[in-house]
Amino acid sequence: MRLETLAVHAGHEIDPATGAVATPIHLSTTFEREADGGYPHGYVYGRSANPTRHALELGLAALEGGEDAAAFASGLAASSALLQALAPGDHVLAPTDVYHGMTKLLREVYLRWGLEVSFVDMTRLDSVREAVRPNTKLIWVETPSNPLLKITDIAAVAEIAHTTGAICACDNTWAPIVQRPLDLGVDLVMHSTTKYLGGHSDVTGGALVAKAKTDFFERVREIQSTCGAVPSPFDCWLILRGMRSLPWRMRGHSENALKIATWLADHQRVQTVHYPGLASNAGYEIAARQMSAFSGMLSFEVKKGRDAAMEVAARMKLFVRATSLGGVESLVEHRASIKGEDPRTPQELLRLSIGLEHPDDLIEDLAHALEL
Ligand code: PLP
Repeated sequence: MRLETLAVHAGHEIDPATGAVATPIHLSTTFEREADGGYPHGYVYGRSANPTRHALELGLAALEGGEDAAAFASGLAASSALLQALAPGDHVLAPTDVYHGMTKLLREVYLRWGLEVSFVDMTRLDSVREAVRPNTKLIWVETPSNPLLKITDIAAVAEIAHTTGAICACDNTWAPIVQRPLDLGVDLVMHSTTKYLGGHSDVTGGALVAKAKTDFFERVREIQSTCGAVPSPFDCWLILRGMRSLPWRMRGHSENALKIATWLADHQRVQTVHYPGLASNAGYEIAARQMSAFSGMLSFEVKKGRDAAMEVAARMKLFVRATSLGGVESLVEHRASIKGEDPRTPQELLRLSIGLEHPDDLIEDLAHALEL
């Protein structure tokens, strides 16, 4: 089945007990045992497994093209479970411009737990090869990057990981559907389902999708159940519902973003536009190879520095000034002021999460904001 069909149907069984077409939200934390001690429906206790969560996990695996999936209470909880499945002394290689919450998680939590961690510019494959150590167990990819939309060659990094015996995981939060890391050789995909999968800025969640049911993924599953960072049934339901329209939403986000990036690139007050769908972008060639569309995230630098950028954001009426991304509404963020000290984020940069409004309305809003 094609992705649009999978999105509508995967994880959505007609409820055998009632015939309900919409997936039920199962709130029960405990499940009845048979007189002989067995569990006829396979469920025991809510932390270990829950029918609504199971439906979400089926949907996630189907949409990302994996054999299994595990849902978590946030994107960082999912990343954390993956890191917990490693052993002290294992080395993790991550991109220098990885999501800043992931840098914090690696540096402030997992270094103390005995993981070795290093960061490398993953757009340079030679640097990745040089950074690999004999004990490298995980290479973490995130592309397009935040907030400069740099593109990493997923297939090439997965190959480097596999030649050294490491697992390759990809944070695909920014480009679900339009980028399929498991098909490109990656072993595990991570999503902050808070973003495009939920799609409506009203639920926090995370997920790991495994290409194959390996012993390593079994360990991740054990950690999901034992450490317990699981999403509530209602959160699972919201994400599963959001996913039904995901392929169509990604089409709209991508079309709108390309139109807006092209318009911004021609604006006299704009210094640079970072969007992998522009032929002038350094990552365009790789992006065009590994993405079917370029998703809805872009950033741009306003001429005359930070104050001018803040003023532009202040004048926007349709774009909401807020962090996060992937919802139906468009957002603008002055990224440098949320990330704190980070020389890689230009002070004059504004990040846009392009929503599903009419692109001409968004362009009118930008035109007004840029006309100081
Ligand atoms: N990965 C990326 C690329 C993100 O943008 C985010 C959140 O902004 C996360 C992971 C973390 O997800 P969550 O906030 O759901 O923990």
